[in-house]
Amino acid sequence: MATVFVIGAGPAGLFAAQKIAQAGHEVVIFNRDIKPGGLAEYGIYPVKDKMKIGLRKQFAKVLSLPNVHYFGHVPIGGEFPVTLETLRQFKPAAMVFSVGAQGTKKLGMPGEDAAGVYSAKDYVYHYNLLPPFATQDFSIGKRVAIVGMGNVMVDVANWLLNHKKIDHVIVVARRGPIEKAYDDSEFEVIEPYLDNRDMKQEIERIAPQLIAVGQNIEEITRKFVKDTEPAEGRRLTFRYLCSPTKVISNDQGRVAALEAEENVMVLQDGKTVAKGTGKTHRIDVDCVIYAIGDQVDASIGLPFSRGVFVTNPEKLAGDLNLAAYQPYDPETKEVLDGIFVAGWSRNASVGLVGVAKQDAERGMKVVNEYLAHKEGLSSGDMEAKIEALIDLLTKNGVTIVTKEDIELLESAEQEEARARKTWDFKYTSDDKMLEVIAARKAARQL
Ligand SMILES: Cc1cc2nc3c(=O)[nH]c(=O)nc-3n(C[C@H](O)[C@H](O)[C@H](O)COP(=O)(O)OP(=O)(O)OC[C@H]3O[C@@H](n4cnc5c(N)ncnc54)[C@H](O)[C@@H]3O)c2cc1C
Repeated sequence: MATVFVIGAGPAGLFAAQKIAQAGHEVVIFNRDIKPGGLAEYGIYPVKDKMKIGLRKQFAKVLSLPNVHYFGHVPIGGEFPVTLETLRQFKPAAMVFSVGAQGTKKLGMPGEDAAGVYSAKDYVYHYNLLPPFATQDFSIGKRVAIVGMGNVMVDVANWLLNHKKIDHVIVVARRGPIEKAYDDSEFEVIEPYLDNRDMKQEIERIAPQLIAVGQNIEEITRKFVKDTEPAEGRRLTFRYLCSPTKVISNDQGRVAALEAEENVMVLQDGKTVAKGTGKTHRIDVDCVIYAIGDQVDASIGLPFSRGVFVTNPEKLAGDLNLAAYQPYDPETKEVLDGIFVAGWSRNASVGLVGVAKQDAERGMKVVNEYLAHKEGLSSGDMEAKIEALIDLLTKNGVTIVTKEDIELLESAEQEEARARKTWDFKYTSDDKMLEVIAARKAARQL
Protein backbone atom coordinates (compact mmCIF):
# COMPACT_ATOMS: atom_id res chain seq x y z
CA MET A 1 0.00 0.00 0.00
CA ALA A 2 1.25 3.42 -0.88
CA THR A 3 0.44 7.09 -0.61
CA VAL A 4 -0.22 8.76 -3.97
CA PHE A 5 -0.69 12.48 -4.53
CA VAL A 6 -3.15 13.52 -7.23
CA ILE A 7 -2.86 17.16 -8.27
CA GLY A 8 -6.06 18.55 -9.80
CA ALA A 9 -9.63 17.42 -9.07
CA GLY A 10 -11.30 17.76 -12.45
CA PRO A 11 -12.80 14.64 -14.07
CA ALA A 12 -9.34 13.21 -14.86
CA GLY A 13 -8.01 13.66 -11.31
CA LEU A 14 -11.14 12.36 -9.63
CA PHE A 15 -11.50 9.26 -11.80
CA ALA A 16 -7.74 8.68 -11.40
CA ALA A 17 -8.11 8.93 -7.61
CA GLN A 18 -10.94 6.40 -7.72
CA LYS A 19 -8.85 3.83 -9.59
CA ILE A 20 -5.83 4.26 -7.31
CA ALA A 21 -7.99 4.10 -4.18
CA GLN A 22 -9.78 1.00 -5.46
CA ALA A 23 -6.37 -0.66 -5.78
CA GLY A 24 -6.03 -0.12 -2.03
CA HIS A 25 -3.72 2.90 -1.94
CA GLU A 26 -4.17 6.14 0.02
CA VAL A 27 -4.82 9.12 -2.21
CA VAL A 28 -4.31 12.76 -1.30
CA ILE A 29 -5.87 15.16 -3.81
CA PHE A 30 -4.70 18.78 -4.06
CA ASN A 31 -7.03 21.08 -5.99
CA ARG A 32 -6.60 24.74 -6.91
CA ASP A 33 -10.31 25.48 -6.71
CA ILE A 34 -12.29 25.10 -3.51
CA LYS A 35 -14.82 22.85 -5.21
CA PRO A 36 -13.94 19.69 -7.14
CA GLY A 37 -15.01 19.09 -10.74
CA GLY A 38 -12.75 21.35 -12.82
CA LEU A 39 -14.34 22.20 -16.15
CA ALA A 40 -17.24 19.81 -15.44
CA GLU A 41 -18.24 22.30 -12.74
CA TYR A 42 -16.86 25.50 -14.26
CA GLY A 43 -16.73 24.85 -18.02
CA ILE A 44 -19.73 22.80 -19.15
CA TYR A 45 -22.57 25.10 -20.20
CA PRO A 46 -24.64 26.25 -17.18
CA VAL A 47 -28.00 24.88 -18.37
CA LYS A 48 -26.71 21.33 -18.94
CA ASP A 49 -28.13 20.54 -15.51
CA LYS A 50 -28.64 16.80 -15.95
CA MET A 51 -25.03 16.31 -17.01
CA LYS A 52 -23.67 18.54 -14.23
CA ILE A 53 -25.79 16.93 -11.52
CA GLY A 54 -24.86 13.44 -12.75
CA LEU A 55 -21.15 14.26 -12.71
CA ARG A 56 -21.36 15.89 -9.28
CA LYS A 57 -22.89 12.65 -7.94
CA GLN A 58 -20.06 10.60 -9.45
CA PHE A 59 -17.45 12.96 -8.00
CA ALA A 60 -19.07 12.87 -4.54
CA LYS A 61 -18.87 9.07 -4.67
CA VAL A 62 -15.13 9.25 -5.34
CA LEU A 63 -14.58 11.69 -2.49
CA SER A 64 -16.60 9.50 -0.14
CA LEU A 65 -14.02 6.71 -0.38
CA PRO A 66 -12.32 6.49 3.03
CA ASN A 67 -8.84 6.32 1.49
CA VAL A 68 -9.36 9.48 -0.61
CA HIS A 69 -8.34 12.73 1.13
CA TYR A 70 -9.17 16.13 -0.38
CA PHE A 71 -7.19 19.35 0.02
CA GLY A 72 -9.17 21.97 -1.90
CA HIS A 73 -8.08 25.62 -2.27
CA VAL A 74 -4.46 24.38 -2.52
CA PRO A 75 -2.85 25.30 -5.84
CA ILE A 76 0.49 23.66 -6.59
CA GLY A 77 3.22 25.32 -8.63
CA GLY A 78 6.03 27.81 -8.90
CA GLU A 79 4.11 30.89 -7.81
CA PHE A 80 2.32 29.24 -4.87
CA PRO A 81 3.46 28.31 -1.34
CA VAL A 82 3.45 24.61 -2.29
CA THR A 83 5.47 23.53 -5.31
CA LEU A 84 6.24 20.25 -6.99
CA GLU A 85 9.48 20.21 -4.98
CA THR A 86 7.58 20.72 -1.72
CA LEU A 87 5.37 17.74 -2.53
CA ARG A 88 8.42 15.63 -3.39
CA GLN A 89 9.75 16.18 0.15
CA PHE A 90 6.78 14.18 1.45
CA LYS A 91 8.00 11.20 -0.60
CA PRO A 92 4.70 10.02 -2.09
CA ALA A 93 5.06 6.71 -3.95
CA ALA A 94 3.69 8.45 -7.06
CA MET A 95 2.25 11.79 -8.14
CA VAL A 96 -0.40 12.21 -10.82
CA PHE A 97 -0.75 15.64 -12.40
CA SER A 98 -4.27 16.13 -13.73
CA VAL A 99 -4.35 19.91 -13.58
CA GLY A 100 -6.05 20.35 -16.96
CA ALA A 101 -4.80 22.91 -19.48
CA GLN A 102 -4.78 26.18 -17.55
CA GLY A 103 -2.46 28.21 -19.76
CA THR A 104 -4.18 30.40 -22.31
CA LYS A 105 -3.16 30.58 -25.97
CA LYS A 106 -2.91 33.89 -27.73
CA LEU A 107 -2.13 34.59 -31.33
CA GLY A 108 0.76 36.94 -30.56
CA MET A 109 -0.58 39.70 -32.82
CA PRO A 110 -0.28 43.46 -32.29
CA GLY A 111 -2.95 45.03 -30.12
CA GLU A 112 -4.15 41.87 -28.40
CA ASP A 113 -3.61 43.42 -24.95
CA ALA A 114 -6.50 45.81 -25.66
CA ALA A 115 -9.46 45.85 -23.28
CA GLY A 116 -12.10 43.48 -24.59
CA VAL A 117 -9.79 40.67 -25.82
CA TYR A 118 -10.49 37.51 -23.83
CA SER A 119 -9.59 33.86 -23.84
CA ALA A 120 -12.70 31.66 -24.12
CA LYS A 121 -11.66 29.64 -21.07
CA ASP A 122 -11.48 32.77 -18.88
CA TYR A 123 -14.87 33.91 -20.18
CA VAL A 124 -16.38 30.47 -19.68
CA TYR A 125 -14.97 30.42 -16.11
CA HIS A 126 -16.58 33.85 -15.64
CA TYR A 127 -20.10 32.83 -16.68
CA ASN A 128 -19.77 29.51 -14.83
CA LEU A 129 -18.93 31.55 -11.69
CA LEU A 130 -15.43 30.29 -10.86
CA PRO A 131 -13.57 32.64 -8.51
CA PRO A 132 -11.79 34.95 -9.20
CA PHE A 133 -13.09 35.12 -12.83
CA ALA A 134 -16.70 35.22 -11.59
CA THR A 135 -16.36 38.76 -10.25
CA GLN A 136 -13.90 40.12 -12.85
CA ASP A 137 -14.96 42.54 -15.57
CA PHE A 138 -15.70 40.80 -18.86
CA SER A 139 -17.60 43.59 -20.54
CA ILE A 140 -18.73 42.53 -23.97
CA GLY A 141 -20.44 45.17 -26.11
CA LYS A 142 -22.78 44.35 -28.98
CA ARG A 143 -20.59 42.87 -31.75
CA VAL A 144 -18.22 40.08 -30.80
CA ALA A 145 -15.69 38.20 -32.92
CA ILE A 146 -15.03 34.65 -31.77
CA VAL A 147 -11.83 33.22 -33.23
CA GLY A 148 -12.05 29.46 -33.81
CA MET A 149 -14.93 27.13 -34.71
CA GLY A 150 -15.05 24.27 -32.23
CA ASN A 151 -17.61 23.36 -29.54
CA VAL A 152 -16.21 26.00 -27.18
CA MET A 153 -17.02 28.65 -29.81
CA VAL A 154 -20.60 27.29 -29.85
CA ASP A 155 -20.86 27.54 -26.04
CA VAL A 156 -19.56 31.10 -26.01
CA ALA A 157 -21.82 32.15 -28.91
CA ASN A 158 -24.74 30.48 -27.13
CA TRP A 159 -24.05 32.54 -24.00
CA LEU A 160 -23.65 35.76 -26.00
CA LEU A 161 -26.75 35.32 -28.17
CA ASN A 162 -29.15 33.56 -25.85
CA HIS A 163 -28.12 34.96 -22.49
CA LYS A 164 -26.38 38.31 -23.11
CA LYS A 165 -28.66 38.92 -26.12
CA ILE A 166 -25.98 40.80 -28.05
CA ASP A 167 -26.62 41.91 -31.65
CA HIS A 168 -24.01 40.04 -33.62
CA VAL A 169 -21.49 37.21 -33.22
CA ILE A 170 -18.93 36.86 -36.01
CA VAL A 171 -17.03 33.58 -36.10
CA VAL A 172 -13.57 34.03 -37.63
CA ALA A 173 -12.05 30.84 -39.01
CA ARG A 174 -8.77 30.10 -40.81
CA ARG A 175 -10.33 27.54 -43.14
CA GLY A 176 -13.77 26.86 -44.63
CA PRO A 177 -17.13 25.47 -43.51
CA ILE A 178 -16.17 21.81 -43.98
CA GLU A 179 -13.23 22.24 -41.62
CA LYS A 180 -15.54 23.15 -38.70
CA ALA A 181 -14.60 21.43 -35.45
CA TYR A 182 -17.99 21.82 -33.72
CA ASP A 183 -20.61 19.06 -33.58
CA ASP A 184 -23.86 19.67 -35.47
CA SER A 185 -25.87 18.59 -32.42
CA GLU A 186 -24.15 21.28 -30.30
CA PHE A 187 -24.62 23.91 -33.05
CA GLU A 188 -28.42 23.55 -32.96
CA VAL A 189 -28.67 25.95 -29.99
CA ILE A 190 -27.25 28.86 -32.03
CA GLU A 191 -28.48 27.85 -35.49
CA PRO A 192 -31.69 29.95 -35.17
CA TYR A 193 -29.49 33.07 -35.22
CA LEU A 194 -27.55 32.11 -38.35
CA ASP A 195 -27.83 34.78 -41.03
CA ASN A 196 -28.39 32.46 -43.98
CA ARG A 197 -28.26 35.21 -46.60
CA ASP A 198 -24.83 36.24 -45.32
CA MET A 199 -23.74 32.59 -45.20
CA LYS A 200 -24.74 32.14 -48.84
CA GLN A 201 -22.74 35.24 -49.85
CA GLU A 202 -19.77 34.09 -47.76
CA ILE A 203 -19.71 30.70 -49.46
CA GLU A 204 -19.93 32.46 -52.85
CA ARG A 205 -17.01 34.74 -51.82
CA ILE A 206 -14.73 31.82 -50.96
CA ALA A 207 -16.05 29.39 -53.60
CA PRO A 208 -12.95 29.63 -55.88
CA GLN A 209 -10.69 28.64 -52.94
CA LEU A 210 -12.96 25.75 -51.93
CA ILE A 211 -13.15 24.48 -55.52
CA ALA A 212 -9.35 24.71 -55.76
CA VAL A 213 -9.03 22.05 -53.04
CA GLY A 214 -11.69 19.85 -54.59
CA GLN A 215 -14.65 20.80 -52.38
CA ASN A 216 -18.19 20.70 -53.74
CA ILE A 217 -19.93 24.07 -53.48
CA GLU A 218 -23.43 22.69 -54.04
CA GLU A 219 -23.04 20.19 -51.23
CA ILE A 220 -21.58 22.82 -48.92
CA THR A 221 -24.39 25.27 -49.70
CA ARG A 222 -27.00 22.56 -49.12
CA LYS A 223 -25.48 21.68 -45.75
CA PHE A 224 -24.70 25.16 -44.43
CA VAL A 225 -27.41 27.43 -45.86
CA LYS A 226 -31.03 27.17 -44.72
CA ASP A 227 -33.91 29.39 -45.80
CA THR A 228 -34.73 30.88 -42.40
CA GLU A 229 -34.26 34.44 -41.13
CA PRO A 230 -32.17 35.07 -37.98
CA ALA A 231 -34.34 34.89 -34.87
CA GLU A 232 -35.12 37.98 -32.79
CA GLY A 233 -32.86 40.26 -34.82
CA ARG A 234 -29.70 38.71 -33.36
CA ARG A 235 -27.19 37.51 -35.94
CA LEU A 236 -24.56 34.85 -36.24
CA THR A 237 -22.23 35.12 -39.24
CA PHE A 238 -19.02 33.42 -40.31
CA ARG A 239 -15.86 34.90 -41.86
CA TYR A 240 -14.11 31.91 -43.36
CA LEU A 241 -10.55 31.75 -44.75
CA CYS A 242 -9.42 34.56 -42.46
CA SER A 243 -6.58 34.72 -39.92
CA PRO A 244 -6.60 37.62 -37.43
CA THR A 245 -3.50 39.80 -37.75
CA LYS A 246 -4.16 42.83 -35.55
CA VAL A 247 -6.53 44.17 -32.91
CA ILE A 248 -7.37 47.81 -33.53
CA SER A 249 -8.28 49.84 -30.42
CA ASN A 250 -10.29 53.01 -29.91
CA ASP A 251 -9.15 56.08 -27.90
CA GLN A 252 -10.01 54.35 -24.63
CA GLY A 253 -7.81 51.34 -25.40
CA ARG A 254 -10.84 49.14 -26.07
CA VAL A 255 -11.25 46.87 -29.10
CA ALA A 256 -12.72 48.71 -32.09
CA ALA A 257 -11.97 46.21 -34.85
CA LEU A 258 -10.15 43.06 -35.82
CA GLU A 259 -7.89 43.08 -38.86
CA ALA A 260 -7.76 39.72 -40.63
CA GLU A 261 -5.66 38.37 -43.47
CA GLU A 262 -7.50 36.50 -46.19
CA ASN A 263 -6.35 32.93 -46.80
CA VAL A 264 -6.38 30.42 -49.57
CA MET A 265 -6.36 26.71 -48.89
CA VAL A 266 -3.82 24.23 -50.18
CA LEU A 267 -3.71 20.46 -49.83
CA GLN A 268 -0.88 18.98 -47.78
CA ASP A 269 -0.82 15.20 -47.29
CA GLY A 270 -4.50 15.15 -48.22
CA LYS A 271 -5.40 17.78 -45.60
CA THR A 272 -6.45 21.38 -46.22
CA VAL A 273 -4.05 23.97 -44.87
CA ALA A 274 -4.65 27.75 -44.76
CA LYS A 275 -2.09 30.01 -46.44
CA GLY A 276 -2.15 33.82 -46.07
CA THR A 277 -2.54 35.98 -49.18
CA GLY A 278 -1.25 39.21 -47.61
CA LYS A 279 -4.60 40.89 -48.34
CA THR A 280 -6.31 42.11 -45.15
CA HIS A 281 -9.74 43.41 -44.26
CA ARG A 282 -11.30 45.00 -41.20
CA ILE A 283 -14.09 43.52 -39.08
CA ASP A 284 -15.72 46.10 -36.78
CA VAL A 285 -16.28 44.56 -33.34
CA ASP A 286 -16.12 45.67 -29.72
CA CYS A 287 -14.84 42.41 -28.31
CA VAL A 288 -12.61 39.52 -29.46
CA ILE A 289 -12.74 36.07 -27.82
CA TYR A 290 -10.15 33.41 -28.62
CA ALA A 291 -11.65 29.94 -28.73
CA ILE A 292 -8.55 28.24 -30.11
CA GLY A 293 -7.85 25.69 -27.40
CA ASP A 294 -5.58 26.07 -24.40
CA GLN A 295 -2.12 25.05 -23.36
CA VAL A 296 -0.91 23.50 -20.13
CA ASP A 297 0.39 25.65 -17.28
CA ALA A 298 4.19 25.83 -17.52
CA SER A 299 4.50 27.14 -13.95
CA ILE A 300 3.51 23.72 -12.54
CA GLY A 301 7.18 22.73 -12.90
CA LEU A 302 6.97 19.73 -15.24
CA PRO A 303 9.06 19.72 -18.45
CA PHE A 304 7.19 21.96 -20.88
CA SER A 305 7.52 22.63 -24.58
CA ARG A 306 5.21 24.32 -27.11
CA GLY A 307 2.16 24.35 -24.90
CA VAL A 308 2.31 20.75 -23.62
CA PHE A 309 4.04 18.79 -20.89
CA VAL A 310 6.76 16.71 -22.54
CA THR A 311 6.17 12.97 -22.23
CA ASN A 312 8.49 10.05 -22.85
CA PRO A 313 8.92 9.76 -26.63
CA GLU A 314 9.90 6.08 -26.41
CA LYS A 315 7.41 3.43 -27.42
CA LEU A 316 7.51 0.94 -24.56
CA ALA A 317 6.49 -2.69 -24.79
CA GLY A 318 3.19 -3.90 -23.34
CA ASP A 319 -0.48 -3.14 -23.78
CA LEU A 320 -0.34 -0.06 -21.62
CA ASN A 321 1.60 2.77 -23.12
CA LEU A 322 3.41 3.77 -19.94
CA ALA A 323 5.54 6.28 -21.85
CA ALA A 324 2.57 8.43 -22.86
CA TYR A 325 1.78 9.16 -19.20
CA GLN A 326 5.36 9.81 -18.07
CA PRO A 327 6.74 13.36 -18.05
CA TYR A 328 10.18 13.38 -19.64
CA ASP A 329 13.04 15.85 -19.37
CA PRO A 330 14.34 16.40 -22.91
CA GLU A 331 17.61 17.85 -21.55
CA THR A 332 18.61 14.93 -19.33
CA LYS A 333 16.67 12.49 -21.56
CA GLU A 334 15.20 10.91 -18.43
CA VAL A 335 11.65 10.31 -17.28
CA LEU A 336 10.56 11.86 -13.99
CA ASP A 337 10.35 8.70 -11.91
CA GLY A 338 7.03 8.25 -10.12
CA ILE A 339 5.37 11.23 -11.80
CA PHE A 340 2.48 10.86 -14.27
CA VAL A 341 0.12 13.11 -16.23
CA ALA A 342 -3.48 12.43 -17.28
CA GLY A 343 -6.52 14.08 -18.88
CA TRP A 344 -6.19 17.54 -20.41
CA SER A 345 -2.74 17.86 -18.79
CA ARG A 346 -1.66 15.11 -21.19
CA ASN A 347 -3.78 16.11 -24.16
CA ALA A 348 -4.61 19.81 -23.81
CA SER A 349 -8.20 20.74 -24.79
CA VAL A 350 -8.88 17.33 -26.32
CA GLY A 351 -12.22 15.60 -25.82
CA LEU A 352 -15.24 15.51 -23.58
CA VAL A 353 -15.45 14.37 -19.96
CA GLY A 354 -15.74 10.75 -21.13
CA VAL A 355 -12.39 11.07 -22.91
CA ALA A 356 -10.70 12.58 -19.83
CA LYS A 357 -12.20 9.78 -17.72
CA GLN A 358 -11.00 7.07 -20.06
CA ASP A 359 -7.56 8.64 -20.26
CA ALA A 360 -7.30 8.77 -16.46
CA GLU A 361 -8.53 5.21 -16.02
CA ARG A 362 -6.10 3.81 -18.59
CA GLY A 363 -3.32 5.89 -17.08
CA MET A 364 -4.06 4.61 -13.60
CA LYS A 365 -3.61 1.03 -14.79
CA VAL A 366 -0.10 2.21 -15.58
CA VAL A 367 0.26 3.85 -12.17
CA ASN A 368 -1.12 0.88 -10.26
CA GLU A 369 1.22 -1.41 -12.13
CA TYR A 370 4.11 0.93 -11.30
CA LEU A 371 3.11 0.82 -7.62
CA ALA A 372 2.79 -2.97 -7.66
CA HIS A 373 6.39 -3.28 -8.84
CA LYS A 374 7.77 -0.84 -6.31
CA GLU A 375 9.16 -2.43 -3.20
CA GLY A 376 8.95 -1.34 0.38
CA LEU A 377 5.80 0.75 0.12
CA SER A 378 3.97 1.42 3.33
CA SER A 379 1.11 3.69 4.20
CA GLY A 380 2.04 3.47 7.87
CA ASP A 381 3.28 7.01 7.91
CA MET A 382 0.25 8.34 6.02
CA GLU A 383 -1.34 10.07 8.99
CA ALA A 384 1.95 11.67 9.93
CA LYS A 385 2.39 12.86 6.33
CA ILE A 386 -1.07 14.38 6.26
CA GLU A 387 -0.48 16.10 9.61
CA ALA A 388 2.81 17.49 8.32
CA LEU A 389 1.16 18.68 5.11
CA ILE A 390 -1.62 20.44 7.01
CA ASP A 391 1.00 22.03 9.22
CA LEU A 392 3.00 23.29 6.25
CA LEU A 393 -0.04 24.65 4.43
CA THR A 394 -1.38 26.36 7.54
CA LYS A 395 2.03 27.96 8.20
CA ASN A 396 1.89 29.31 4.64
CA GLY A 397 -1.49 30.91 5.29
CA VAL A 398 -3.45 28.43 3.15
CA THR A 399 -6.98 27.58 4.34
CA ILE A 400 -7.48 23.95 3.36
CA VAL A 401 -10.94 22.82 2.32
CA THR A 402 -11.65 19.18 3.14
CA LYS A 403 -14.24 16.87 1.64
CA GLU A 404 -16.40 17.32 4.75
CA ASP A 405 -16.21 21.10 4.16
CA ILE A 406 -17.35 20.55 0.55
CA GLU A 407 -20.44 18.71 1.80
CA LEU A 408 -21.27 21.65 4.09
CA LEU A 409 -20.73 24.15 1.27
CA GLU A 410 -22.81 22.17 -1.20
CA SER A 411 -25.68 21.80 1.24
CA ALA A 412 -25.64 25.59 1.83
CA GLU A 413 -25.63 26.20 -1.93
CA GLN A 414 -28.49 23.77 -2.47
CA GLU A 415 -30.56 25.49 0.22
CA GLU A 416 -29.89 28.83 -1.44
CA ALA A 417 -30.87 27.38 -4.84
CA ARG A 418 -34.15 26.05 -3.43
CA ALA A 419 -34.88 29.43 -1.84
CA ARG A 420 -34.30 31.10 -5.21
CA LYS A 421 -36.29 28.40 -7.05
CA THR A 422 -33.42 27.51 -9.37
CA TRP A 423 -31.62 24.18 -9.84
CA ASP A 424 -28.20 25.65 -9.00
CA PHE A 425 -26.57 28.34 -6.94
CA LYS A 426 -22.87 29.11 -6.55
CA TYR A 427 -21.03 31.50 -4.28
CA THR A 428 -18.81 33.64 -6.45
CA SER A 429 -15.77 34.26 -4.24
CA ASP A 430 -13.42 32.04 -2.28
CA ASP A 431 -13.82 34.27 0.78
CA LYS A 432 -17.59 33.84 0.76
CA MET A 433 -17.28 30.06 0.36
CA LEU A 434 -14.80 29.88 3.26
CA GLU A 435 -17.10 32.06 5.36
CA VAL A 436 -20.10 29.80 4.66
CA ILE A 437 -18.08 26.68 5.51
CA ALA A 438 -16.85 28.26 8.77
CA ALA A 439 -20.39 29.32 9.71
CA ARG A 440 -21.78 25.81 9.03
CA LYS A 441 -18.99 24.25 11.10
CA ALA A 442 -19.61 26.65 13.97
CA ALA A 443 -23.36 25.95 13.84
CA ARG A 444 -22.68 22.21 13.99
CA GLN A 445 -20.59 22.64 17.13
CA LEU A 446 -23.29 24.57 18.99
C1 LIG B 1 -16.19 25.52 -22.51
C2 LIG B 1 -16.15 24.03 -22.34
C3 LIG B 1 -17.32 23.32 -22.42
C4 LIG B 1 -17.31 21.93 -22.28
N1 LIG B 1 -18.48 21.25 -22.38
C5 LIG B 1 -18.49 19.91 -22.25
C6 LIG B 1 -19.72 19.19 -22.34
O1 LIG B 1 -20.78 19.76 -22.54
N2 LIG B 1 -19.67 17.83 -22.16
C7 LIG B 1 -18.49 17.16 -21.91
O2 LIG B 1 -18.51 15.93 -21.74
N3 LIG B 1 -17.31 17.84 -21.85
C8 LIG B 1 -17.27 19.19 -22.01
N4 LIG B 1 -16.09 19.86 -21.95
C9 LIG B 1 -14.83 19.10 -21.78
C10 LIG B 1 -14.56 18.71 -20.32
O3 LIG B 1 -14.78 19.82 -19.50
C11 LIG B 1 -13.11 18.20 -20.22
O4 LIG B 1 -13.03 17.02 -21.02
C12 LIG B 1 -12.69 17.81 -18.81
O5 LIG B 1 -13.11 18.72 -17.84
C13 LIG B 1 -11.15 17.68 -18.72
O6 LIG B 1 -10.85 17.18 -17.45
P1 LIG B 1 -9.45 17.39 -16.70
O7 LIG B 1 -9.65 16.82 -15.34
O8 LIG B 1 -8.35 16.87 -17.53
O9 LIG B 1 -9.22 18.98 -16.59
P2 LIG B 1 -10.10 20.11 -15.82
O10 LIG B 1 -11.54 19.81 -15.89
O11 LIG B 1 -9.64 21.41 -16.38
O12 LIG B 1 -9.65 20.00 -14.31
C14 LIG B 1 -8.43 20.49 -13.84
C15 LIG B 1 -8.45 20.59 -12.32
O13 LIG B 1 -7.12 20.91 -11.89
C16 LIG B 1 -7.16 21.93 -10.92
N5 LIG B 1 -5.90 22.69 -11.01
C17 LIG B 1 -5.51 23.50 -12.01
N6 LIG B 1 -4.29 24.01 -11.76
C18 LIG B 1 -3.92 23.51 -10.57
C19 LIG B 1 -2.77 23.67 -9.76
N7 LIG B 1 -1.75 24.46 -10.14
N8 LIG B 1 -2.71 23.01 -8.58
C20 LIG B 1 -3.74 22.22 -8.17
N9 LIG B 1 -4.85 22.04 -8.90
C21 LIG B 1 -4.94 22.67 -10.09
C22 LIG B 1 -8.38 22.76 -11.27
O14 LIG B 1 -8.84 23.42 -10.07
C23 LIG B 1 -9.35 21.69 -11.77
O15 LIG B 1 -10.12 21.19 -10.69
C24 LIG B 1 -16.06 21.25 -22.05
C25 LIG B 1 -14.88 21.99 -21.98
C26 LIG B 1 -14.89 23.36 -22.10
C27 LIG B 1 -13.61 24.15 -22.03
